[in-house]
Amino acid sequence: MADDHGGFEHIRDTVDGHPMVNLITYALRYWPRLLVGVTTAVITRFARLVPALIVAATIDRVVLGGADPGLLTDVGLLPTGAIVGEAARLELLRRLVVIAAVAYLIRSVTRFASRYLLQSTAQKVQRDLRNDAYDHLQRLSMDFFVNHQTGAMLSVLNSDINRLEQFLNSEFRQLIRVVATVSGITIILWSYSPKLAAIALLPVPLIGLASAGFLTWIEPRYQSIRETVSRLNSRLENNIAGVDIIKSFDRYEFEHERVATQSEQYHDEQIRALRLRRGFFAALRLMTGIAFVAILFVGGRDIILLGDAGGLSTGSFALFFLYLRRLYSPMRRIGRSANKYQQAKSSAERVFGLLGHAPMIDDPDDPHDPAFIRGDIDFEDVTFGYGDREPVLSDVSLSIEHGETIGLAGETGAGKSTLTRLVPRFYDVDSGSVRVDDVDVREYARQSLRRGIAIVGQSPYLFSGTVAENIAYGDLETLTALRTDGSVPDAVVEAADAAEADRFIQDLPDGYRTEIGERGVKLSGGQRQRLAIARAILNDPAIIILDEATSDVDTETEQHIQASLSRLIADRTALVIAHRLSTIQDADRIVVMDDGEIIEQGSHDDLLATNGAYADLWRVQVDENPATAD
Ligand code: ADP
Repeated sequence: MADDHGGFEHIRDTVDGHPMVNLITYALRYWPRLLVGVTTAVITRFARLVPALIVAATIDRVVLGGADPGLLTDVGLLPTGAIVGEAARLELLRRLVVIAAVAYLIRSVTRFASRYLLQSTAQKVQRDLRNDAYDHLQRLSMDFFVNHQTGAMLSVLNSDINRLEQFLNSEFRQLIRVVATVSGITIILWSYSPKLAAIALLPVPLIGLASAGFLTWIEPRYQSIRETVSRLNSRLENNIAGVDIIKSFDRYEFEHERVATQSEQYHDEQIRALRLRRGFFAALRLMTGIAFVAILFVGGRDIILLGDAGGLSTGSFALFFLYLRRLYSPMRRIGRSANKYQQAKSSAERVFGLLGHAPMIDDPDDPHDPAFIRGDIDFEDVTFGYGDREPVLSDVSLSIEHGETIGLAGETGAGKSTLTRLVPRFYDVDSGSVRVDDVDVREYARQSLRRGIAIVGQSPYLFSGTVAENIAYGDLETLTALRTDGSVPDAVVEAADAAEADRFIQDLPDGYRTEIGERGVKLSGGQRQRLAIARAILNDPAIIILDEATSDVDTETEQHIQASLSRLIADRTALVIAHRLSTIQDADRIVVMDDGEIIEQGSHDDLLATNGAYADLWRVQVDENPATAD
């Protein structure tokens, strides 16, 4: 059974390399887009620094008519020397207006380009990751699906991958913003007054250090919050899926308690993290306030006491205050970015942990890849247990010839289903071997082995889609034909006919095109079973594994099902797990299992004559339902 965490708490162990480096590697596939995106983002940030320079120049030169050089003069955009007379000042003003207009134009064009390019890269990474993760997940062995909750797997494919897209989209831009803005402002302020620049810049590394501390502090909390929310999601999903059981046992109170306890835990963890986060931001604000006050005092004092000798003009003094906000506001956000980084890292661990999770069951180097399978099956001294648990099969040996029908009988939990799951290699034996056509199943290319085997379960799964699609699923060519052509292939109708399903399908509102599944028409157990049989007939496998459905079908339906089953297993090797012994009465051989071992085998008559375990089971069923013996 899956554990309470959805099974994903150990997935970090299978990340190959650093998760965030892996994420960047995905983005680097689009490096030209990324390169232009980053470059234009840097230009945008630099362009944003220009207006404050223009304000400083306007104050110093246009308003006060001073000769102070300033950065714009240094780079040759403004004339040197004192500006004397109205005409000269107006001329200078015009020039500043042009510079401002050009800066705004550049900023708006590069901003569009960088946002578009970086956001579209994030979207592409999201698409690629989801495709890869889904594809990989599908190829993992059955044990992975048994050990991980559906909700947890869905949340990796949805929320985690979405979060990575958002991280690339917004936090990556933030990183560029911080680096470009801080370095740009540092260079500019330094050129005006190294002393004041040092005061302005002092909080920057402090904020960085505080963020780093905050990051390590908050990390375990976010880890635990993510796991709690995934547990809560799984619980909610479980309770919605199992609503009929909850209703029938009237377990509202019990379930309410469970949900409330988990919600409470989630709430408490969020509140604890919230306190830390808010405290952190408050401390940051205080630090930036101290810098503001210090610059005001030191800079103002210099101007008063030193005058022009202080080297600080009125405009450049104003420039410091104009830049302070620009300097600190991205720094204040670093805490949030650190949070986002932590969350994205957790998501990346799950996504790349999933991608790094090797299937337990994989093809050998030089797989056996036969064109078709005849259908002989040999179990040789098979011992098998799920995971590290006690063996559920011990030393089972059984030889089955192609075309033979084997009925599997025995109490629930005897190991019948487990035995059949070893044939398509859903699991590997612990010792002994399973051979198909005299070749160990571990030597096959899984695809060619599984192509030769069809499984019809007790409650067969039907996909949302039309009846025709669900039947055509059994054969790739037919499925493709249906998808491309749109008309219902003859093969589908023939298979449905053989499965005794044609009649009821014709009676459905849209016949073969009727939508079934979650949003479509609901089918009865017997109808679902017959569609599954039609799907298997179309698949035309050499080996059929049948978990016979028992309950909830009326007698007429049962006759239909029996007829379709007989057609399905004729000329094929069949392993039929029987819940009612009458259905395997005519099997070539009946194998009786108990507690993971084969205790009897033979024909129905032989076994009755032996008067052993099978005879006991038979008597119990005849007593329960006398009609069975007819
Ligand atoms: P049967 O088909 O005869 O009812 P099964 O093969 O389903 O018996 O089960 C045999 C034993 O293996 C039981 O004890 C069952 O609990 C256990 N078992 C079945 N499936 C799993 C699984 N996926 N993981 C762990 N144990 C399992």
